[in-house]
Amino acid sequence: MSFEGNGRPFQARRAKFLQAIGEGATAVLPSAPVALRSGDVEFIYRQDSDFYYLTGFEEPEAIALFSPGHPDGDFVMFVRARDKERETWTGRRAGVEGALIEYGAVKAYVTDEFEKVLPRYLEKSERIYYPIGRNEKLDERVLKLVQWSSAMRPRIGSGPYAIVDPREFLHEARLRKEPAELELMRHAAAISAEAHRAAMRKARGGMKEWQIEAEVNFAFRSRGASGPSYPSIVASGPNGAILHHIENRREMRAGELLLIDAGCEYDFYASDVTRTFPVGAKFTNLQRELYSIVLEAQRKGIERALPGARFDDPHDAALRVLVDGMREVGLVKGSAEEVIEQGSYRRFYMHRTSHWLGMDVHDVGLYRVKGESRTLEPGMVLTVEPGLYINEDCEEAPDHLRGIGIRIEDDVLITEGGQEIITSATPKQITDVEALTTG
Ligand code: MG
Ligand code: ZN
Repeated sequence: MSFEGNGRPFQARRAKFLQAIGEGATAVLPSAPVALRSGDVEFIYRQDSDFYYLTGFEEPEAIALFSPGHPDGDFVMFVRARDKERETWTGRRAGVEGALIEYGAVKAYVTDEFEKVLPRYLEKSERIYYPIGRNEKLDERVLKLVQWSSAMRPRIGSGPYAIVDPREFLHEARLRKEPAELELMRHAAAISAEAHRAAMRKARGGMKEWQIEAEVNFAFRSRGASGPSYPSIVASGPNGAILHHIENRREMRAGELLLIDAGCEYDFYASDVTRTFPVGAKFTNLQRELYSIVLEAQRKGIERALPGARFDDPHDAALRVLVDGMREVGLVKGSAEEVIEQGSYRRFYMHRTSHWLGMDVHDVGLYRVKGESRTLEPGMVLTVEPGLYINEDCEEAPDHLRGIGIRIEDDVLITEGGQEIITSATPKQITDVEALTTG
């Protein structure tokens, strides 16, 4: 299930990347910087997705260098030196030897040598591929060296004259998932399904939101996920109408709705799932009416997530159902066309229906190409997540509708023949949900 550092996927991706940047180019990719949480305590380290995509290397303070056709090797790694004493405190390091043997570098150095080594590659290169803004400390050092090599160009006849962003290529590559990546995404989705089922079974009136957050995170970690791929949203009652509610402190009441937006990350791949269900009870008539609108909007949206369709098609289809529902329950007035045209639905549905999903929750890749909504292709994964949010102090809404938030979110893979809903093991049909909330 998991890749080894020197495994084939990384090697094959590097080969494609080297070919894409071509001879006469050097690419430099930084690892993610370490971030402080409080005092001298660091956040749990998570490697930069682009860096991991090409190297499989999880340690900080590393740099990968690519230089097609360079006599000293086309894949060079700069890594932390082995250090017995430090490793006793902060964990094992691959070191230079590990970078060569386990991670397939043709040459490897300790990171301290980067500034000494880089000019050798720069002086033979016309184009430098470097993602500015990803690691500020390294930005400064790289730009200085590139500037210096550029200044030498008139005298030695070679050297860089262009800085190009490697993400253009990498993000297009990451947008189309390989079979091995899809296996990891399906596994992440299966774990998230278990977490949502546990939440539906456990949530009862009188519990705090954070108790359910703990259940969800337990389900993730106990099945080998690294944890949530974004802070879990556990939003009961009126909190459901707050899009990024992550305080998770409120006491839930039996029978009110609980919105959970939580997905795990498994071996660097994210899942992103939202379910909304009544706490320890069946849906009331009003809850069922509103939930059914969102469920139908999602069904219509998913139906349009097909190869050859536009990225915007699921959104347009889901929005139409939401707007008709809003008109029926008295949230908006006028014809559906008017409501969409004037945007009066936005008070109750203020986000888009889909985003790409992959190593990052809001994954990389263009949504529009040449000004047009992008055409969906096999291997792309997107969420379909319509919602309906009526703030508790919303004066435009009828009294009895206030303080309700509903979202239903699944992850959809576009396939040759159509689609695969990789999160389909998470219950969302009313009877399936009620079987768990009242079981
Ligand atoms: Mg989500
Ligand atoms: Zn999402």
